[in-house]
Amino acid sequence: MSSPTDALAVIGAGPAGLAAALTAADHGITVTLIDAAPQPGGQFSRQPAAALGASRPHALHHHRRTWTRLRTRLDAHREAHRIRYLPDRHIWSVEPGFTLHTLTADDEPETFAADALLLATGAYEKALPFPGWTLPGVVTAGGAQAMLKGGLVLPGRRAVVAGTGPLLLPVATGLAAAGARVAALVEAADPRAYGRHARIIAAHPGKLAEAAAYAARLVRHRVPVLTRHTVLAAHGTDRVEAVTVAALDADGRVRPGTERRIVCDTLAVGHGLLPHTDLAGALGCRTDPARIVVDAQQRTDVPGVWAAGEATGVGGAALALAEGEIAGRSVVAHLTGERPRTRSTAAKSRTALRQFAAALDAVHAPPAHWSERVTDDTLVCRCEEVTAGTVRAAVTELGAADLRTVKLFTQAGMGWCQGRVCGPGVTGVAGCPPDVVRRPFARPVPLSVLARTPRFPEGRQS
Ligand SMILES: Cc1cc2nc3c(=O)[nH]c(=O)nc-3n(C[C@H](O)[C@H](O)[C@H](O)COP(=O)(O)OP(=O)(O)OC[C@H]3O[C@@H](n4cnc5c(N)ncnc54)[C@H](O)[C@@H]3O)c2cc1C
Repeated sequence: MSSPTDALAVIGAGPAGLAAALTAADHGITVTLIDAAPQPGGQFSRQPAAALGASRPHALHHHRRTWTRLRTRLDAHREAHRIRYLPDRHIWSVEPGFTLHTLTADDEPETFAADALLLATGAYEKALPFPGWTLPGVVTAGGAQAMLKGGLVLPGRRAVVAGTGPLLLPVATGLAAAGARVAALVEAADPRAYGRHARIIAAHPGKLAEAAAYAARLVRHRVPVLTRHTVLAAHGTDRVEAVTVAALDADGRVRPGTERRIVCDTLAVGHGLLPHTDLAGALGCRTDPARIVVDAQQRTDVPGVWAAGEATGVGGAALALAEGEIAGRSVVAHLTGERPRTRSTAAKSRTALRQFAAALDAVHAPPAHWSERVTDDTLVCRCEEVTAGTVRAAVTELGAADLRTVKLFTQAGMGWCQGRVCGPGVTGVAGCPPDVVRRPFARPVPLSVLARTPRFPEGRQS
């Protein structure tokens, strides 16, 4: 067991985890900061792989100064041994109390103990199926971004960026700035829908300026922008060669006669993000089902467990920073017996940023009726190769009324991704309500590791 001042484990070194770890360390708490990635920064400040020797590692980043400040503070706390930063370690399970089970990049198991735990595990992308989405060259928008920021490579030379949500803007402009021809930015939402949230949007002039800067970059790189449009299908034999896009009417249905083909070798497509809730679920924290539920101090309903950032609801890096700071302060109060601060600048910005995130969420909901456009022969679960037709038959012919039964009848969601990738697609095609998924492990674990892990999974075998 760790000493009283060596008591906090933070899982995730993105904006939320960094803010929490730095805040706790500023107050004398010694923190263990663990992340699956080789470098800190999370998704927002993803760093190029060190071996690439990038001459301008921050060239692809926005809010560089914020990152530099976080990095400087992290380095100082590491030097002073207040933060023990452990990269390249994926936590696959946490036992109450808390024992953290990790796997290194070489699948070597390690175990850490902590008195308090802060989950800052971020989000992953929501991937919705459509005909041709399994072709090589079709990647998620964040995947294209990760290749560019982390690997300094372009996924292709001629890209279409499609789906819905603000992430499409940095992806399209990032690809264009790095030399790709972006043949179209295809956004399903209608920008006029922002009008319904004018008061909230106007309260964030910084975000408006950011949006204007992206718009200017799109113009500069001559990226055609198609709003209220969707990708109907990706075409190709060995890899994607073109996509068909079409306009949507006010109800989210395709406007007949608007279909057109766009030649490309890459389709980067994203429909928003989903919070990572696996570890919280395994610990018994309440999830709702798409995010970890926290109180005003970012505490979960399990004593000793806090959560911050996109794991508690998707809202961007600034919100993740604010939530991380609030969680860090609350942990300090818990470990030192101080009174927690209820009012702070971070709490004020959290309220405003959550309102902004809710407005974005409403504008950028996935287009209605998308699942009707998924043809029966489209694979919806790639791991187990289950088609949309099989999922539909489970509902209409076998009588499955919930996702668990669909899974048992079809094996959709039983493969490597355990439903993380295919879950939203299978849910939409089946027409079932979303399920609260409890996964005992946050990633696949070799049997040899389980066999060598004492006491796990005591009483929780599944
Ligand atoms: C693929 C992707 C790309 C994005 N790109 C952009 C962008 O370009 N611009 C933008 O404004 N926003 C982007 N976002 C949104 C962005 O994630 C947030 O705004 C911000 O990074 C959220 O901060 P966070 O700390 O909550 O989570 P993250 O930044 O996602 O950090 C979470 C960290 O937790 C670690 N982690 C998760 N699970 C485990 C585990 N079990 N064990 C160990 N470590 C774990 C991850 O490795 C990660 O480093 C992107 C999101 C995604 C999913």
